[in-house]
Formats: sequence, C-alpha cells, structure tokens
Amino acid sequence: MKRTFVWVVALVMTCSSLTISQTLDQRARRIQSGVLGIDGHNDSVQHVIYENVDLANPLPDGMIDLPRLREGGIHVPFFALWVPTYYQGAEAVRRTLDLREAMERLFDKHPDQIELATSARDIQRIVGQHKIAAVLTVEGGHQIDNDLAVLRMYRRMGILAMTLTHFRNNDWADSSTDKPQHNGLTDFGKQVVREMNSIGMMVDISHVSDKTFYDALEVTTKPVIASHSSCRSISDVPRNMTDDMLRALARNGGVVGVNFAASFLNQQDADVLKKAISSENAMQTSLTGAALDQFAGKEYFDGKGEIKVGNATVADAAACIDHVVKIAGIDHVGIGSDFDGIGLVPHGLEDVSKLPNLTAELLQRGYSEDDIRKIMGGNFLRVIKEVVGQ
Ligand SMILES: [Zn+2]
Repeated sequence: MKRTFVWVVALVMTCSSLTISQTLDQRARRIQSGVLGIDGHNDSVQHVIYENVDLANPLPDGMIDLPRLREGGIHVPFFALWVPTYYQGAEAVRRTLDLREAMERLFDKHPDQIELATSARDIQRIVGQHKIAAVLTVEGGHQIDNDLAVLRMYRRMGILAMTLTHFRNNDWADSSTDKPQHNGLTDFGKQVVREMNSIGMMVDISHVSDKTFYDALEVTTKPVIASHSSCRSISDVPRNMTDDMLRALARNGGVVGVNFAASFLNQQDADVLKKAISSENAMQTSLTGAALDQFAGKEYFDGKGEIKVGNATVADAAACIDHVVKIAGIDHVGIGSDFDGIGLVPHGLEDVSKLPNLTAELLQRGYSEDDIRKIMGGNFLRVIKEVVGQ
C-alpha cells in the first residue's frame, strides 16, 4: 500500500513537472513566433557560393535555410559577404561582388520568400508580407581595398554594415586576433568610420582589437554594432567583449549580438577556437582570379568538418545575454548567432530552428515578453533606424 502511494506521488510529480516544461516550451514558441527576429550575423553565403545550395530548400546540413529561419522566428538574418583575408586588394573587391551576385540570384529565384531589405521600413514591410528580409553586410575592411568610393558603392548595392576587420589587421585597423600594428585605427581608418556614419552604414566592431574598438567609439557619431561577439568575463577569448567595452557600447547606444559559438560561451570550449584562429592567421597566397577562388574553395571543403556540439549549452547563451543585460542594460543586447560560420555549437542551439529553446531559457530566468522582443530583434531594429534610416 505504502509503495503504491509513493509510486502515485512520483507519477503525479513527474506529470506536473512535464506539464510545467511543456507549458514553458509552448509559451516560448508562441512568443518567438510573434517577435521580429533579427540575427546580426551568419555565414550562409559561403554555402551558397561554394556549394550552390538553394537556401529556400530544407538543407541536409548547415545551420540555416529559409524553412529553419521561419521555424526559429528569425525573419531578418544578416548575411555576411565574408571574403578571407588572403584575398588582397582588388581581389577582395572582386570576390565581394561574386558573393553579392550570388545573393541577388537567390532573391531573383524566390521573390515570394526572400527580399533584400535596405531600410527599417523595408524590414517591416517584407516581414509583414511573411517573407525573410535579408540584410547584407561586409565582413572585413580589407574588402574596400582602401578606397572610400568602393565603400560607398557597397552601400548603394544595399550593404548595410561593415565589420572593420576580420581575423587579421588590414592597412588601417588592428584586429583582435593579430599583433597590434597601427595602435587601433589609422587616420584613414577614422575616415572610414566617418564615411560610414555619413552614408548610413552600420560600423561593426566585432573582430577588432580593443584599441580599434575605443578609437571607433571616439570617432563615430552613430551607434555601432558588435554583430557577433560574446562576453570575455565568461569566455576569455580576444573576440569577446570586456565589461568595460560593454559599458562603452551602452553609452554609445549600440547593440551586441551574442555569438553562439560554443567556444565564445564556455571557457572549456575556448581552446578549440584558439587553434582555429591561429591556422587562419597563417594562411597566405599570391594567387589571383579563378586560381585564388579554387584555393579558397579547397580550403572551404577541407575545413568543412562535421558540426560538433561543445560543452556549452543553450543555458550558457542565456547566461551571456544575462551578463550583457547586467553590465550594459536590456537595450543593448541582441542575437548574433554566427551560424554556418562556427564548427562547435551549444547543446540546444544547434541551428537557427532552435531559437525557441533560448526564449524558454530567458523566460525561466524571469525575462518578460517585452524584454525578449528587444533581445530577439527590437534592439537591432532601433540601431538600424538610427543609422541606416527609416
Ligand atoms: Zn566573424
């Protein structure tokens, strides 16, 4: 009799905790389906250019396609037109055009599903039509070949942000993962920031050295973005932001999109990343044209290992968001997944369709629906309005 009673109590307890977690999951999905979801960074364009994938189809691998974007409640992905830093000078500009054209073909092929967005109003209209509003960005100042006219032309081609550096220094800015060379931004680098302010292009400080970050903040008259960075006090890698940088970003009115790379969220995973950075740093070639593209293609396929799940979990991503909120405030944090650019993902955040898991974590931590709307896209939209315009 006694034993039966214990079983019944155990069964009731299991059922009620199941109901609670189901309710939380359902609530998270409901909230996530109502947010205007903005993700500050993905590398899916690499899949498009090297593998000729059609993002409108459910893909057997990778972390992003249009069906999964819809499932995850991300309506406004920032597609990075990233060119490896071994593309030098005019070669980097040529490759940027290749990537830009690859995205144009996607827009041409599926006008009913995805459209280029070049203003806040575009974003609201396109999302209102139940389509994906694609924001295009350039990832690395080397891609302008030290020419402000190229920068202006990118803006005219609908590119709304530029990361000042990638893994290596360029001729006018130091990177966080290279040896300091310019002590931050050179005079020309400061001119680049001013030009971006004046043409309505977001200055992206992910990847830059700490000194470049502070130099950019001193020059800019507009809020900046850190499109895909996390917290250095949680995972000590140079790509993440210190608490002091987070406070400075808040004073500037900017927003940081928390990066989901397991190594950026969990110290145990960080060593794997350090190895990857040093190998990219070492890569150099004097090839040009088609031979250079072939070299890059080989590197892409060689490096395309199986996606692994790290020690980090979706709770670590929520903890990083929580930390930014404590240091910088609720108005300065967003999502910057880096999906399709990372090899080690957190458990529970394996691809973009899993975003509701993060929403559930945030609910569990006591975040309100209003807070979640800001984190999932509201803060990025505010900065787009302020910098790019209505
Ligand atoms: Zn990056």
